[in-house]
Amino acid sequence: MKPARTKTPRKPLVKKGSQTNLKDPVGVYCRVRPLSFPDQECCIEVINNTTVQLHTPEGYRLNRNGDYKETQYSFKQVFGTHTTQKELFDVVANPLVDDLLHGKNGLLFTYGVTGSGKTHTMTGSPGEGGLLPRCLDMIFNSIGLFQAKRYVFKSNDRNSMDIQCEVDALLERQKREAMPNPKTPSSKRQIDPEFADMITVQEFCKAEEIDEDSVYGVFVSYIEIYNNYIYDLLEEVPFDPIKPKPPQSKLLREDKNHNMYVAGCTEVEVKSTEEAFEVFWRGQKKRRIANTHLNRESSRSHSVFNIRLVQAPLDADGDNVLQEKEQITISQLSLVDLAGSERTNRTKAEGNRLREAGNINQSLMTLRTCMEVLRENQMYGTNKMVPYRDSKLTHLFKNYFDGEGKVRMIVCVNPKAEDYEESLQVMRFAEVTQEVEVARPVDKAICGLTPGRRLRNQARGGPVGDEPLAIEVVLQSFPPLPSCEILDINDEQTLPRLIEALEKRHHLRQVMIDEFNKQSVTFKALLQEFDNAVLNKENYIQGKLNEKEKVISGQKLELERLEKKNKTLEYKIEILEKTTTIYEEDKRNLQQELETQNQKLQRQFSDKRRLEARLQGMVTETTMKWEKECERRVAAKQLEMQNKLWVKDEKLKQLKAIVTEPKTEKPERPSRERDREKVTQRPVSPSPVPLSSNYIAQISNGQQLMSQPQLHRRSNSCSSISVASCISEWEQKIPPYNSPLNVTSIARRRQQEPGQSKTCIVSDRRRGMYWTEGREVVPTFRKEIEIEEDPCCRGDVYKTRGGGQSVQFTDIETLKQESQSGSRKRRSSTEAPAQPDGTECEWTDVETRCSVAVEMRAGSQLGPGYQHHAQPKRKKP
Ligand code: ADP
Ligand code: MG
Repeated sequence: MKPARTKTPRKPLVKKGSQTNLKDPVGVYCRVRPLSFPDQECCIEVINNTTVQLHTPEGYRLNRNGDYKETQYSFKQVFGTHTTQKELFDVVANPLVDDLLHGKNGLLFTYGVTGSGKTHTMTGSPGEGGLLPRCLDMIFNSIGLFQAKRYVFKSNDRNSMDIQCEVDALLERQKREAMPNPKTPSSKRQIDPEFADMITVQEFCKAEEIDEDSVYGVFVSYIEIYNNYIYDLLEEVPFDPIKPKPPQSKLLREDKNHNMYVAGCTEVEVKSTEEAFEVFWRGQKKRRIANTHLNRESSRSHSVFNIRLVQAPLDADGDNVLQEKEQITISQLSLVDLAGSERTNRTKAEGNRLREAGNINQSLMTLRTCMEVLRENQMYGTNKMVPYRDSKLTHLFKNYFDGEGKVRMIVCVNPKAEDYEESLQVMRFAEVTQEVEVARPVDKAICGLTPGRRLRNQARGGPVGDEPLAIEVVLQSFPPLPSCEILDINDEQTLPRLIEALEKRHHLRQVMIDEFNKQSVTFKALLQEFDNAVLNKENYIQGKLNEKEKVISGQKLELERLEKKNKTLEYKIEILEKTTTIYEEDKRNLQQELETQNQKLQRQFSDKRRLEARLQGMVTETTMKWEKECERRVAAKQLEMQNKLWVKDEKLKQLKAIVTEPKTEKPERPSRERDREKVTQRPVSPSPVPLSSNYIAQISNGQQLMSQPQLHRRSNSCSSISVASCISEWEQKIPPYNSPLNVTSIARRRQQEPGQSKTCIVSDRRRGMYWTEGREVVPTFRKEIEIEEDPCCRGDVYKTRGGGQSVQFTDIETLKQESQSGSRKRRSSTEAPAQPDGTECEWTDVETRCSVAVEMRAGSQLGPGYQHHAQPKRKKP
């Protein structure tokens, strides 16, 4: 019963080779395996992730005259000793699988000497799945849900695929399962522990952008090429242990698309990685057994594991696969583990095996030649024939190099020194290969139906994935129907048997219906229970949810508050920062001002010092000038004074002469001459001693008055003496005007009447009297005395105003003494009389002395007890 075919649009024509001008070089990668022993000599070094360096090992150098050579080889990428299988897969194989899933062909092979890690890389080692299981894993991870039912796709012997509807496929499955030796492998079988750890890939790898509106089928085949013969490793041949038949070799054929294929090769449809790897493992086992039995060296054979991915679009309903063979896309990924590339002599093979080995070597040599010719053709535009047909290996992959597809090669190297020469050969081959360019595979043709058909069908409740239909399950549980073919007219058994079988089926159906009803009731009850439980849970969860929401809202509020606080603080910080800036500015300004002021002060200070120095100079200069001036003036004044004195003397003499007229004697001129001589002997500027100070001293001492001139007086000149003597003479002769009293007589009288009347003698205005301690002092002159200072002489000269003559007023005794003592120091003239307490005092200046004299005069009128108040100042230092 075939489903009605849905009309499909024409497949858009995609001309093959329309993109052939786009070519990619063969991707050549290098994997360096770790040394077997750490102390092994190494001759390969990974320089960076694209370069390796080979250097001549020690032993090799000895043979070659110690030549040391280093050669570097570049690859698309170099994988060092620590590279994991996953890393290698991601870079090398992942893009090939991706291409496969998008309908493009790919070829991946490992090349290298025996023991370099080809099989480890391709198949893997225990616990380390290689590229093969990883590729399978990625494929099934990607197409998992979109796989077609088993036998929907059926491979034919023309290297293409047939398609059949799902029911046909189901019936075929049943038929095959009814066979004594069921050929349909179960995808739910237990995994062989032998390889279990090689396919349990932890990393989930999946291709992107898988066309969901297609169904997919995976077919694997596994062949071995040994001695230029192709053997099918998956072929089921009954094994005869007595006379084992040598395996039949297969032939290569070319399909209508010019792809080469192994005619009659077993191709197994697989539904999972485990199933696919199990198939591979079966082939691997067979290979090993055959090699042992046939005494072959396994390293001398090439193995090719082919993965063919078939995809067909879903029909317009998205329910069934489109039953159009032309719409089927087949892509192929060939994983090739090449034989060891070492030369024959290395294995020391002999006889038959040597010949075989030579052939194997031949196939690799052919591969090499093919690559070289290809490169030459591509590089120089030549059209040399590529010798693909010279070996089965190259012939099989002819289409990859001539047609299109992605080709990648992993060069495996063992860095040990023993492999140096072989490794060099491998590197040279790799160099050639990566210069060969292969046409980039074209994109898959678009089927022209609206995308998203599967999804729409699923939404309508259509089948999902690879799950078996319920009807299939039921059908399988029914007892098989007996043959209903009636060949004999007398056959009375077939029909009753059929009736019986059908009745049995009917009864079974009734039982099943009852069972179903019962189960549905139970299920309903269960559902109800479950519903209630769910409701309870829902309520409980709702309560919890509300609680949590409350907490969350509380936390939100707190968050808001904190945010506000944060903002305020930020604002404050901003303000503070601004204030700081202002203060800093102020500080800077003030500092500047301070500096300016300091500078100004410094300037002023230096100005002041300069000024001081100048003033000092001026003062010194002025002082010197004035000193000179003073000296000059003093000299002038002295001269003048001396002249005056002489004039006075003259006058006095004349006066004396007049007074002593009765006497005939005239003052002798010669005596004046003597005086003058005396004067010339005196100091330059003798100044007379003031009378007043002399008096005060005498009076305060309370001792003799005029009679005892003990004080150091300086007589101005000898002329003074002569004047005084003249006057005394004159006074003795002429009684004094108005109550004349001789000083000496007074003194005498005192001595006679001690302690007598202290009554002040009333004196005339012209008579100077002075009282002290009740003693009467009578000045020498009775004339009115006027005191004037002569600033030039600094002397204490008192002028008398009488008759217009000026008379020096001094103590006669003192003058006498002084005239005797001759020159005395100027200082003694200024010495003050000793105070009653014994201290020495000094007349500070002329003015004071004058005032004292005046007051003395005034005091004479004040009466007894009068004390002179003008105390002399303490002697200045
Ligand atoms: P080949 O297939 O080239 O003859 P194999 O793959 O059989 O070499 O490797 C030989 C040995 O070296 C194996 O035991 C394998 O486990 C080990 N081997 C190879 N390559 C590696 C590798 N990259 N890391 C660890 N061991 C490796
Ligand atoms: Mg190997």
